[in-house]
Amino acid sequence: MPYKTIIGLEIHSELLTDSKIFCDCSTEFGGDVNTHTCPVCLGLPGALPVLNKKVVEYGIKAGLAFNCEISERTKMDRKNYFYPDLVKGYQISQYDMPLCQNGYVEIETEDGVKKIRLRRIHIEEDTGKSIHSEDGGSLLDYNRSGVPLIEIVTEPDMNSPEEAKLFLEKLKSILQYIEVSDCKMEEGSLRCDVNINIVDEETGKRSTITELKNLNSFKAAVKAMEYEEERHKKLLEEGKDTRRETRRWDELKNETIVMRVKEEVSDYRYFPEPDIVEMEIDREWVEEIRKELPELPHVKKERFIEQYDLPEYDAEVLTSSKALADFFEETIRYFDDSKQVSNWIMGDISRRLNMENIGIEDVSFTAKDLADLLKLIDEGKISNKIGKKVLRAMFEEGKDPNTIVKEKGLIQISDEGELKKIVDKVLSENQQSVEDYKNGKDRALGFLVGQVMKATRGKANPQLANKLIRESIQ
Ligand SMILES: [Zn+2]
Repeated sequence: MPYKTIIGLEIHSELLTDSKIFCDCSTEFGGDVNTHTCPVCLGLPGALPVLNKKVVEYGIKAGLAFNCEISERTKMDRKNYFYPDLVKGYQISQYDMPLCQNGYVEIETEDGVKKIRLRRIHIEEDTGKSIHSEDGGSLLDYNRSGVPLIEIVTEPDMNSPEEAKLFLEKLKSILQYIEVSDCKMEEGSLRCDVNINIVDEETGKRSTITELKNLNSFKAAVKAMEYEEERHKKLLEEGKDTRRETRRWDELKNETIVMRVKEEVSDYRYFPEPDIVEMEIDREWVEEIRKELPELPHVKKERFIEQYDLPEYDAEVLTSSKALADFFEETIRYFDDSKQVSNWIMGDISRRLNMENIGIEDVSFTAKDLADLLKLIDEGKISNKIGKKVLRAMFEEGKDPNTIVKEKGLIQISDEGELKKIVDKVLSENQQSVEDYKNGKDRALGFLVGQVMKATRGKANPQLANKLIRESIQ
């Protein structure tokens, strides 16, 4: 039966402000438990919240980057529910007058560009954190209580886990570009909830939406969505329906597990926060923030294609992270063969980064080091193959390429006299191949060059070796 999957996302992203949303406690991740706290973020009676202007500014910045309308008037509301990590018994969030509305993000699917609409972006405070100990007890750390968040809510515009993943990658990239969030999923500064159901396009019958929570990586999110797609299909086929419930992804069991039956919005008894006045957002301020927006990924991509004459694919990969794009441009400053730089970054460097699950900002060598390495290859001082070896040492030892080449004695042998001696030795030891080559077997030449490379541990200049062998045999 033709089923269509319907996915909407809610993303929570911690903002990179120095202080919390309603007090001046530090937002820094880590630190001893309950040290970044004060009467306000501990919710003590009588403590009053003061809204951090930077939070509103970052919210507007995100709204502009995601093509939203920035509201003329906005207000904070109380969302009431009980949970131990929520000190006040309510969370200060935004309900009917969010800061930003009606935006969109474009993703590139196999069928072309697709617009994913954003319903709203609002600002709110984070909760504390429960720490569950092995003996079954729970402890509470309120360092995170009051850390500012933006919540981004999409329309249900994604039709496959793959599209949802593309959207999340784009969203993360833009948030990092505009420097409002570091989006570290492992530290919880980017969290994603999924609403998913399916519709039978023939009968129009829909399954009831399931909410997926606690997805701590894009990979886990995709797996959980794929699992739910199948579960919903199976239930519909059996003539049953899903319940409106919240489920979490269990990495070990490879399945989703019910957390609770979903609350309705009305259960939260939203009402306006009486301690923070309704705000009017000054249009001039919005325009100032707009002017400060950096070049966004899609604009940078077009510029890379134009300015560096790169294929679209290269430009897409290089601009997917601001750090990677900056590294590329910095390398070009010292070595201006853009295609060569792109090949190395997209090839050996990216492979290594993926393998170690780190970003270019985490490596110990600089863009200038990479440029120096490419110069050594370009000037024929080392071969391409030795270059890869030097790059590995740059990753592992953090030394610059010139030092590595010197220390390991990797300079290419391009001196004819020196190489000729080695060639003669190789030829005398491989008479059969010499005969083969004389009898027209071209492959024998490749073998002989290989032997010279082997004898010099890869340091011979291969073109020169090739030339010397041919001259000697004739
Ligand atoms: Zn505080």
